[in-house]
Amino acid sequence: MKNVNNINNNFNIALTDKIKSLRTKSLKKKRKFSKEQLEKPVAFWTKRERLINEVGKELTIILRTRGCSWALGETGGCSMCGYVQDANIDHVSSSQIIAQFDHALQNKLNEIETDSDNYVIKLYNSGSFFDDSEIEEDARKHIYEKIAEIKKIKEIVIESRVEFLTPEKIAGMQEFLKKKYVEIGIGLETTNDYIRNEYINKSLLYDDFVRAFKRCKEKGVGIKAYLLFKPPFLNEQGAIDDCIASVRTLINLKVNTISINPLNIQKGSLVEHLFYQNRYRPPWFYSLFKCLKKAIRQQEELQMVRILSDPSGAGTNRGIHNCRKRECNEKMRTILRNFVHNQNIEILKNIEYDCPCKKKYKTQINLY
Ligand code: SF4
Ligand SMILES: [Zn+2]
Repeated sequence: MKNVNNINNNFNIALTDKIKSLRTKSLKKKRKFSKEQLEKPVAFWTKRERLINEVGKELTIILRTRGCSWALGETGGCSMCGYVQDANIDHVSSSQIIAQFDHALQNKLNEIETDSDNYVIKLYNSGSFFDDSEIEEDARKHIYEKIAEIKKIKEIVIESRVEFLTPEKIAGMQEFLKKKYVEIGIGLETTNDYIRNEYINKSLLYDDFVRAFKRCKEKGVGIKAYLLFKPPFLNEQGAIDDCIASVRTLINLKVNTISINPLNIQKGSLVEHLFYQNRYRPPWFYSLFKCLKKAIRQQEELQMVRILSDPSGAGTNRGIHNCRKRECNEKMRTILRNFVHNQNIEILKNIEYDCPCKKKYKTQINLY
């Protein structure tokens, strides 16, 4: 394995120092969670979602753990990430994790079992599901057993950094879930090692991602690659070019799913600091559509690789947006949702809505 540190330079050292100091400052202001709060998840919901072969529903549960080890480590984690603000920082026990999961499941079980749609369950912990310091083996096993019992749940998505994706952890999960389709989300962010490690501070090489992908494929487990749309230090055009190159590489690799996450400004992150200094603007919807139209060359590619995008904070100042007009952003969100649900490239080619902000966008594309 190549050492990510070998490609570090002075820029990266200055960057990680800044990330760490911002992180430390914002974590100091954090309030403690009570015992009762630690027995309930951060959030959970159901909504429509594209499944592998059909439109169905998702049950998403966000578990509260101690937080991502990478964010709590020496470099302060990824430059755009503020998830650790929602974490407990101190240890969260297995019984508390189990209580959180059971609370959400009990609340939604009846809805799922009486629904005519099939479901995907997405279990997020704003870190790594396979990191024992976040979720211990017995809690993972409890979760697997419960999910295995629910017939309507056909797919499972969890997230992990690749260093925790060991053959033992994959086998431990497959023992219970082999009848369901499991996908592991990995924050690859971009296929460009320089952007990923120098601008995002991910500490991950593309080659290591590919190795993890192959390891999972051998076991029948799918990979969902997250791409970050418009990392810091790239302008709109740079972001479009980077994302097109990443989508092409991942389509050629035949990764199962690509999820494009337009950057949203998160609390305590380096990007929030840049945003306050007017040195970062979240991406425009126009850029995302431009990228998708260029990156997907044929409709058939979408039969092989599913492309998703469900932007957080869309239409607000802190998320992907066009102008301030509500109608303009709503229209864009609807188009994106239709594209994702139907996996049909024609939806992006026939956008009829025209807003005057497109002119302003064209003058800014190479600037910010
Ligand atoms: S993006 Fe993922 S790996 Fe990076 S700090 Fe956030 S939770 Fe950790
Ligand atoms: Zn507009």
